[in-house]
Amino acid sequence: MYDIAIIGLGPAGATLARLLDKRYKVIAIDRKNSKTGKCCGGLLSPDAQKILAQFDICLPKDVLVDPQIFSVKTIDLNSRIERFYQRFYINMNRAKFDNFLISLIPNSVEIYSDSFCRKIEKEEGKYRLTFKANGEDRVEEAKIIIGADGANSIVRNTFYKANKIDKYVSVQEWYEDNANSPFYSCIFDKEITDSYCWTISKDNYFIIGGAFPSRDSNWRFELLKKKVKKSGIVFGKLVKREGCFVCFNRGIATTYTGKDGAYLVGEAAGMISPSSLEGISYSMESAKILSGVLNKNLNKIDRKYFIRTLGIRIKLMLKILKMPFMYNTILRRLIMKSGLRTIKKMK
Ligand SMILES: Cc1cc2nc3c(=O)[nH]c(=O)nc-3n(C[C@H](O)[C@H](O)[C@H](O)COP(=O)(O)OP(=O)(O)OC[C@H]3O[C@@H](n4cnc5c(N)ncnc54)[C@H](O)[C@@H]3O)c2cc1C
Repeated sequence: MYDIAIIGLGPAGATLARLLDKRYKVIAIDRKNSKTGKCCGGLLSPDAQKILAQFDICLPKDVLVDPQIFSVKTIDLNSRIERFYQRFYINMNRAKFDNFLISLIPNSVEIYSDSFCRKIEKEEGKYRLTFKANGEDRVEEAKIIIGADGANSIVRNTFYKANKIDKYVSVQEWYEDNANSPFYSCIFDKEITDSYCWTISKDNYFIIGGAFPSRDSNWRFELLKKKVKKSGIVFGKLVKREGCFVCFNRGIATTYTGKDGAYLVGEAAGMISPSSLEGISYSMESAKILSGVLNKNLNKIDRKYFIRTLGIRIKLMLKILKMPFMYNTILRRLIMKSGLRTIKKMK
């Protein structure tokens, strides 16, 4: 019997596993292996950098990629307006970042990678999980279960079906990069999606992707590529295509922290910015808070964890209020036209 079982070792699960007190017997299960990275823009925001600084964690050089970019080119395909805004992201290799966080987990945590958790049942106050490890089904029990398993969380889907969250499908393609001037862009087009799309350069690859309503997501992605090509961007040879779900959180009520021994952190809890889809900082922050609660004692976790994540919910609420300025066509156009906070590029 384990004290705590963590499902998922993305930034949320890996941070939690690292911070949990060694007096607990902890098991962590992750379906990915060291080579499979998450479909992600791989940009580390200032908020995420701040949390790493709080943890006194420095990033090794091999997690970073070329080039580091200081501005985002915002493109409104409908009105054909383009503007540049300053950004302070770190461009990194997401798979290496996740592996690095996992490498910091103490040996006291029992880790199963490349292991898919396919069933969780609650029985007499404990949780029984069935997962595949080395090709065989394994069953383990834990007093507390943590869903750090991202947008399509099995913990959330099993125990908190009523707290549904809107999920979009993210698709990205990686191309050999032929461009002389790499850039990062945010693309808006109401025909393609009511979220947004992006391009980014990473270690001689040009990546194009977007978040789309699940219905017609492939058709929408193809339309994005067609429109971007039409605007003059030349694609090199296709290297890979990847996709995943992403939570598209349009109401604060959809964040949910869990109860009765089954808790959610990071994107599984719905903690991701609905405006930028930035989520790494929220994942690490919520894991830090939950570890603080669990490390004290195992009493009244539901209430303490809920209250201490209030700051995150307020932050997300502010992001939701910002959404009309990004996603409402007229407001976005007005702001872009005004030139507010834009950077003028030298010819
Ligand atoms: C296309 C895209 C681009 C993004 N770009 C950025 C960005 O540039 N910057 C940023 O900050 N955020 C970005 N995000 C958001 C960010 O990726 C997530 O918010 C963040 O990864 C959430 O971290 P997490 O640890 O909560 O979940 P995840 O990183 O999703 O980790 C969940 C883990 O759980 C594992 N797992 C899932 N189900 C199971 C199961 N049943 N059994 C075992 N293991 C399981 C998965 O293998 C995974 O390792 C992007 C998201 C998408 C979709």
